Amino acid sequence: MTNWITRFAELVAENRGYLTELDSAIGDADHGANMARGMAAVSAMLETHRPDSADELFKSVGRTLVSGVGGASGPLYGTFFLRVGAEAGPVEQLDTRLLAAALRAGVDGIIARGRAEIGDKTMLDAMAPALDAFDAAVGGGSSAAEAAVLARAAAELGRDATRELVARKGRASYLGERSVGHLDPGATSAALALRALAETLSGVTG
Ligand code: ADP
Ligand code: MG
Repeated sequence: MTNWITRFAELVAENRGYLTELDSAIGDADHGANMARGMAAVSAMLETHRPDSADELFKSVGRTLVSGVGGASGPLYGTFFLRVGAEAGPVEQLDTRLLAAALRAGVDGIIARGRAEIGDKTMLDAMAPALDAFDAAVGGGSSAAEAAVLARAAAELGRDATRELVARKGRASYLGERSVGHLDPGATSAALALRALAETLSGVTG
């Protein structure tokens, strides 16, 4: 799980410019900077402090993002990781079902905090289908790695589908119909989170 977080931080750093470019089209051009600053702080924190349980890991990630990132994405990603940690509990390892439940609790936290619905052109449009795919795969007997690979594919499809949506939450909603034709930055960073999970659990990068 720690490797998941550090891989996510790497992917965010690599895609910083791209995320900012997406946010410059329908927002205020800071999503790449927000996420890169937050995840760099998380990586630095993990270098000095190795958590010894899942809840400690995810809660420290969540607290770092809530306190270190301005904008909508800090509190939303922060809430996601805080809820993942609360659901995971003080365990040293997560089994597949507990991971599924923890991720689901995280997504529910984003909904509770941001009050977005599916189709509002937000990070939820990548995360929610990813979690549905993860749960369906686990329910069908897949391993966590297989489920994460399917979840990543669903997140990327959900991200791509945000291009045709009208934004109804966050800054992009000020543009109304003019937000159509652009990918949502938060859905794009959320797809990176799922890519990082799939790569970490499957051992295959790219
Ligand atoms: P800000 O909009 O404050 O500049 P960021 O640019 O870092 O913050 O993040 C923008 C992203 O946050 C959007 O692309 C969208 O995915 C996500 N977002 C904004 N508002 C909400 C919300 N209420 N619920 C879920 N996601 C949201
Ligand atoms: Mg922004």
